[in-house]
Amino acid sequence: SIQIVWLRRDLRMADNPALYAAAQAGPILPVFVLDDERTGDRKYGGASRWWLHHSLESLGRSFGRHNAKLILRHGDSVDILADLAAKTGAEAIHANRHYEPWWRKAQGDLEKALPDGCELVLHDGNYLMPPGTATTGSGDPYKIYTPFSRAMRDLMPPRDELPAPETISQPSDLPASDDLSDWDLLPAKPNWATEMEKFWSVGEDAARERLDWWADHVAEYEDGRNLPSEDQTSQMSPHLHWGEISPITIWHALKDKRSEGWRTYESELIWRDYAQNILCQFPTYPEETYRDAIDDNKLWRNPNRGHVIEEELEAWQMGRTGYPIVDAGMRQLWAIGWMHNRVRMIAASFLIKHLLIDWRHGERWFWDTLVDADYASNGTNWQWVAGTGVDSNMFPRIMAPLSQSEKFDAAGYIREWVPELAELSDDQIHDPSDQCRPSDYPEKIIGHREARERALEAYRAMKEG
Ligand code: FAD
Repeated sequence: SIQIVWLRRDLRMADNPALYAAAQAGPILPVFVLDDERTGDRKYGGASRWWLHHSLESLGRSFGRHNAKLILRHGDSVDILADLAAKTGAEAIHANRHYEPWWRKAQGDLEKALPDGCELVLHDGNYLMPPGTATTGSGDPYKIYTPFSRAMRDLMPPRDELPAPETISQPSDLPASDDLSDWDLLPAKPNWATEMEKFWSVGEDAARERLDWWADHVAEYEDGRNLPSEDQTSQMSPHLHWGEISPITIWHALKDKRSEGWRTYESELIWRDYAQNILCQFPTYPEETYRDAIDDNKLWRNPNRGHVIEEELEAWQMGRTGYPIVDAGMRQLWAIGWMHNRVRMIAASFLIKHLLIDWRHGERWFWDTLVDADYASNGTNWQWVAGTGVDSNMFPRIMAPLSQSEKFDAAGYIREWVPELAELSDDQIHDPSDQCRPSDYPEKIIGHREARERALEAYRAMKEG
């Protein structure tokens, strides 16, 4: 009897527990629903939609190789799936668990909406271990990364990798499917995605190829990961976010690499699990400051208190702050939908502390512009940099963008992304003085020392009430 597979951010054939179980149980109907209703104001951003289009195209081809068809629908996931189940007489809907609050609600609603005789079967697919597996001695989930990662390492290895289903059968009478091109996921004119098209290969096959490449480079990760001028991180984040490859597959492919680089890389995969673990505990984490000691109304420059932040926010978004490392990062983000992790930290810190703008403005911009925009990872990392979350108290630690740029040798990176500075020497490029600053490159929006003092003063004033 028919098995529906509800796909969301698990757009792959291999190591996909929901697909695997369904394919073993009977003929399948794989369904992707573009649900802009349940996601509310967390609809996928522009860059995410671009990625999603190509990823669905690729997955459609993978099903095609099995003579099977991926069904596309748009609307409310629960209504659509319950209706499909009723009309096809499906025995089960298989799905990998997702933890964004709207998906958790949809999973609960779907269970109630299904016709008699059809059950929702949830699997664990997208993380090294299901959130909630690693707990403290008293059984509570962890709030802090370091003990969480220690507990995760004690629980390793993760489960075995599942193969892609060898054969897929489908009912002869298929329900109708939307045309992907009708969803308008790609940009209308002007096409802002031309650099993204050149830079990325999307889909499961591309993720596998990147993993093969990465297996030969992971040993250099320990030294290279902080150097934005080098191609020494895996750039697997969008593939992982969209579930084109599972972290379990990556873990098993690299586990014999026994280098410091692999151990550090494993820690990053654990950060990814950690972020979900936080989201599961605090479903509104990406929306709200979680540290009691931080008063959003007092700390941030705020239009309600007469501050004008629009222009500065826009200068940051467009990469025109006058700080080359920040501008390079923001322009890389705009061009290819991805930014190097070290630069994400510097750029986020700059918005929050140098410009004293509420971290949620930055989180939203990243949500719209990253191809790996992830509700849990984005929210957790923004709160971590801001020092507003359950883990770090980092607000008074103000990163110095100019010395970070020198320390991590970002000259090549700046030349690539801020071409108007390309002619400057390595000595000049991190902090172009007024004599060497080209006329088309902006002056610093605020001096570093002044910004630092303003941030610390705002923090002090907030604490004193
Ligand atoms: P690698 O260095 O090769 O790491 C391997 C994988 O581990 C990544 O692909 C990613 O899945 C995971 N990972 C690495 N670092 C982190 C981290 N700090 N938190 C969670 N997972 C991590 N990552 C996202 O996937 N989505 C986001 O929306 C996102 N927003 C961020 C916002 C800010 C302000 C900051 C500072 C970081 C953010 N990150 C986010 C984390 C990190 O920057 C990216 O995962 C990383 O840069 C992706 O590049 P990579 O694949 O080459 O990473």
